[in-house]
Amino acid sequence: MNNKEIIQEIYEKIKSIDDEGELASYIPELANVDPENFGVHISTINQNNFGIGNCYDKFSIQSIAKVLSLCMAYRILDKKIWERVGVEPSGTAFNSLVQLEADNGIPRNPFINAGAIVISDILISNLENPKEDFLNFVRSISNNSEINYSDKIAKSEKKVGFRNIALCNFIKSFGNIQNEPSDVLDFYFDLCSLEMNCKELSDLFLFLANHGSSMIDNHMILTKSQSKRINALMQTCGFYDESGEFSFKVGLPGKSGVGGGIIAIHPNQYAIAVWSPRLNKKGNSYKGMRFLEEFTTESQLSIF
Ligand code: GLN
Repeated sequence: MNNKEIIQEIYEKIKSIDDEGELASYIPELANVDPENFGVHISTINQNNFGIGNCYDKFSIQSIAKVLSLCMAYRILDKKIWERVGVEPSGTAFNSLVQLEADNGIPRNPFINAGAIVISDILISNLENPKEDFLNFVRSISNNSEINYSDKIAKSEKKVGFRNIALCNFIKSFGNIQNEPSDVLDFYFDLCSLEMNCKELSDLFLFLANHGSSMIDNHMILTKSQSKRINALMQTCGFYDESGEFSFKVGLPGKSGVGGGIIAIHPNQYAIAVWSPRLNKKGNSYKGMRFLEEFTTESQLSIF
């Protein structure tokens, strides 16, 4: 069977299973999404692209955007970035505060909220118009000007983002936030509000399967070494305290978001995006995880 047939078969199977997950209602606007949405899109290096279900409906990519903000900051600071944020899996929830005290305000990795807030601070310090410049960076990667923020989602999260506000202020008390917490948080909530559909997402992330170079015009978005490291971080930290489980079951670098999206990368082969809004207890898409587990099992393609 080819990828298309495998995806079709697994899609039908996973679509009909009981979804044990729940919507991320802590962001009020995310609770308004139809939980039955389910889309998949694969973009491959040799242009064998295929999508199914709600793969053309936009959704809130939430923490998946943290990979893109990290890439942008990595381009600016290169190795110096690791003075501000670590590269270890945290083993804690995405919004946890517990390790920061012992770690003197240096977040364990850039994908937990604490780490992504520090990356937001770095971008604010280095960009003229952070909100606009970041959006342009994201659009330029896949040459897609349709990508945008959702003001509705950002506003909804700003009203209830008390844990993130606490995280940012706590990190600032250790000196690892240089700007005003309110500015850093505004930018963080905006970047989490980016909307894309599965096709846009898998097209955009294909550069990480292509050693950091754009698939459109071959321009270098990241160096080979940087691209390797972003993939390594997605492998070890992309799913918070479920990163080991994702690695064990799926065997690919990936990143999830509380909007129910997951992106996974097979270096040299493809990027695949799955969207199903109901989340398991660790905050990762229930059906998305199940789908990808079956996909790498059936296709017998994984990096291991
Ligand atoms: N904006 C969300 C938050 O900060 C992102 C979390 C996620 O997608 N895991 O809580």
